[in-house]
Amino acid sequence: MHGKLYLIKEGEISLKGGNRNLFEKQLRHNIKNKLRPFHSDITKQKGRLYANIAEEADDALIEKALKTTPGITGFARAHRAEKSVEAIISKAKEILPSSSFRNGDSFRVTVKREDKTFPLDSHEMSCELAEAVFSLFPDMTVDLKHPQHTLTCEIRQDVYLYTGEEKGEGGLPYATAGKGMLLLSGGIDSPVAGYMMAKRGMKLDAIYFHAYPYTSELALEKVRQLASIIAPYLGGLRLFVVPFTEGQLHIRDKGYEEEATLMFRASMMQTATRIAKENGAAAIVTGEALSQVASQTLDAMSFTDSMTDLLVLRPLVGMDKEEIIEKARTIGSYETSILPYEDCCVVFSPKHPVTRPVKEVSRRHFEELEMDDIISEAVKNAEVYSFDPMGREIKDEGN
Ligand code: ATP
Ligand code: MG
Repeated sequence: MHGKLYLIKEGEISLKGGNRNLFEKQLRHNIKNKLRPFHSDITKQKGRLYANIAEEADDALIEKALKTTPGITGFARAHRAEKSVEAIISKAKEILPSSSFRNGDSFRVTVKREDKTFPLDSHEMSCELAEAVFSLFPDMTVDLKHPQHTLTCEIRQDVYLYTGEEKGEGGLPYATAGKGMLLLSGGIDSPVAGYMMAKRGMKLDAIYFHAYPYTSELALEKVRQLASIIAPYLGGLRLFVVPFTEGQLHIRDKGYEEEATLMFRASMMQTATRIAKENGAAAIVTGEALSQVASQTLDAMSFTDSMTDLLVLRPLVGMDKEEIIEKARTIGSYETSILPYEDCCVVFSPKHPVTRPVKEVSRRHFEELEMDDIISEAVKNAEVYSFDPMGREIKDEGN
């Protein structure tokens, strides 16, 4: 097949003993899915994956696809050479002029010689390749510790040459650790929470509670955009938008004002539990961090936990806001998260929220609200938006 070749390195998977095969198979499947738009063909050789991609595919998109796939620790555009010293040198001379190598900069050569029958050892081959570099860039210098550029040559079953290796996400391939439901609001925290679970191998769908017109159409737009930003880390994602205006109004009119947020959170847990079970998810993921707001005290979180029999995961629980923001910036969700459309209208937030609820008391108050029918209606009327592994929204035919 004609096209361009990418060499892909797998990460932590190599540590996974008996499960290794399963993880590798899933990663390969994930990459295949991710690269589908580029008509790629993936082969595997000992700890490396090679993706052959159509020549006309956009490099920036391929890079985005690989960078956002957990389980990949690094990748590079690679070139195959015949397995002989002369062929390798001539291939190096062919690719170096269009690489980042520049006169005046420093470089090193790294040779990985897996095939022990190859006539030169790695040191000798490195010297040959360094000569090739000097023949093209006489003013470059060698720096083994902190080179500006690296030319790598892997001599395995086949021979591959590459410069400019990119770092990958690391972590574990999604869909190796079960499925969860992410409570996705328009804030900074929840997209980061989803990303963190994705990196631990989870597959996620997301739920957003929308209280139109108290929360605007723009707030929903923003959440859809956030879903599309995290979708690549998850190999695609479905977003359930649950209309919850009636629930909010009911809580406001029938409940205790200072408990409004707690009652809303309890409703979210129960609704999410139903949607999770209908869709094969075994955990609920939230962006809560200890003590960040009134509803994130130990007592409040322990109350909301008691509203579901599913595992509740809070990957940000011990992080402070600055750390979360930093992560949000790296995954590219921050700028969208800070758009000024509130996810939860101030109308529904009490002035003096309870921070230390007594679980049994708040549970009784929640029962007295008799939310069952409202929750069933909300679940029934949820709208589904789907995002493909590149984060593009796709038309959903009634899931
Ligand atoms: P975030 O920045 O994620 O909005 P936050 O610090 O604003 O978090 P809260 O608004 O109390 O905190 O929400 C805590 C968590 O509850 C969120 O991280 C999210 O997981 C979930 N959540 C809150 N509001 C909604 C909503 N309207 N729809 C879905 N999930 C929500
Ligand atoms: Mg919020």
